[in-house]
Amino acid sequence: MTQINRREFIKLSGATAALAATPSILKAEGGGSFEASVAVVGGGFAGATLAKYLRFWSDGKIQVIMIDKNPDHVSCVLSNLVLNDRLQLDDITQSYAPLEENYGVIVKQGLVTDVTGDVVKTVYLDNGETLNCDYVVLAPGIEFIDIPGLKFGDVNSFDIIPHAWIAGSQTELLRDQLHEMQQGDTFVMTVPQSPYRCPPGPYERACVVADYIKREKGGGKVIVLDPHEGITIEKETFEAAFNGIYKDIVEYVPNAILNAIEIDPVTGEKVAKTSAGNFSGKVINVIPTHKAGKIAEDLGLLPDGNRFAPVDPVSYESTMPGKSGFYVIGDANDSGQPKSGHMANAQAKVCADAIIRTIAGKTTSEDFVHDPARLENIRTNSACYSPITYDEASWLTAVFAYETADNSMKLVKDSFASSNSPHWSNDNFEDMFEWAQSLFRNTFG
Ligand SMILES: Cc1cc2nc3c(=O)[nH]c(=O)nc-3n(C[C@H](O)[C@H](O)[C@H](O)COP(=O)(O)OP(=O)(O)OC[C@H]3O[C@@H](n4cnc5c(N)ncnc54)[C@H](O)[C@@H]3O)c2cc1C
Repeated sequence: MTQINRREFIKLSGATAALAATPSILKAEGGGSFEASVAVVGGGFAGATLAKYLRFWSDGKIQVIMIDKNPDHVSCVLSNLVLNDRLQLDDITQSYAPLEENYGVIVKQGLVTDVTGDVVKTVYLDNGETLNCDYVVLAPGIEFIDIPGLKFGDVNSFDIIPHAWIAGSQTELLRDQLHEMQQGDTFVMTVPQSPYRCPPGPYERACVVADYIKREKGGGKVIVLDPHEGITIEKETFEAAFNGIYKDIVEYVPNAILNAIEIDPVTGEKVAKTSAGNFSGKVINVIPTHKAGKIAEDLGLLPDGNRFAPVDPVSYESTMPGKSGFYVIGDANDSGQPKSGHMANAQAKVCADAIIRTIAGKTTSEDFVHDPARLENIRTNSACYSPITYDEASWLTAVFAYETADNSMKLVKDSFASSNSPHWSNDNFEDMFEWAQSLFRNTFG
């Protein structure tokens, strides 16, 4: 493992720029004749970054309309810290106002229900509004796959068995259930099947909950039901935590594929039924297996049997036949890169650059997207900090580079992690906030 100091790491991970140079193609061409409009579905880390950089890098020449079903964005990043009261939801809620005020993004609140048309596309919102545009970028995040006994479209199930994997009221519900636990009670949680949003996130949650139970409740149990053969990421770190500071609290169960959830109608007892046995708990936190946000599936961007949308990593344009002009960024795509907010931000920049170059190429007949100098410079990166105790954290980051040979993003060898000793520290914990603020500013500010 290559050692770098933390300041260098924050600089590296905070600067999420995915390309060596800011594209200046529209500016260089001058003339103001590039009239195009882009609709962005979803205002999370992917969509908000894309909207901002399309406006910024095109010098305002592209009209950008960003639509989200919510009035602002509650960040999943740092949301585990709401569970132990380190943060409140307000601390991680991002306003869209700076995107409107500083960059001229047109922000609309509504649920996108359909998109029709070929060259000119029409976007339909649930409030009856329709919008015409030239390009549609989908950044809808994730949807959950239903579990028998627990239909996630059903509001009542959410109320009893929270996932807290899309931040907001679910996060507060899980926090309240955790706080109501008594000494000796059991918290059962499930890890989703890979690939899922935030690879270390479930193990990080187990640590935050175990720490809370230890400090605030004087003991209890956290059962981690993992469908994988073992811890999928930062293995040394999480094994050290589970078998060390949390050895009396955490029970880690590998190969535990969740089959069903049962809630006894009389006693209210909650049971997670898995391939490794049945586990009951005072709180059950099911993080179901994910697929791309529903709109991606509705628009035919997922091949049969695929959970995520295949894309060309030089542009994030859909590779589904007949779907040119549709792009999919962030957690919803199937690009082989980690599903993280940091990565969503990086992919959005590659996509914004590609759309600007596509628009410029339309009037100059040049292929700016596949310019060899550009391909050589396509980089993305990801970073995740994981709180392990009340005031200590671990971290990892990964850098990806474009590989022409098979048109994919490949992990660059010298990625970094804090997985050798010390696995976690208070310095890392403090750096986590600096890194997160930098990501929030870069995306929403
Ligand atoms: C507990 C936890 C901790 C995490 N920690 C980290 C971390 O340390 N580092 C990191 O980089 N990442 C972390 N992540 C992962 C990160 O939050 C996600 O990868 C990131 O949010 C993905 O961004 P996105 O834009 O693809 O999706 P989202 O952020 O989910 O945004 C999707 C948006 O689309 C909107 N939307 C969906 N469908 C429609 C529609 N039809 N019409 C209108 N709007 C729609 C939604 O309302 C939402 O605002 C963490 C996640 C969790 C759960």
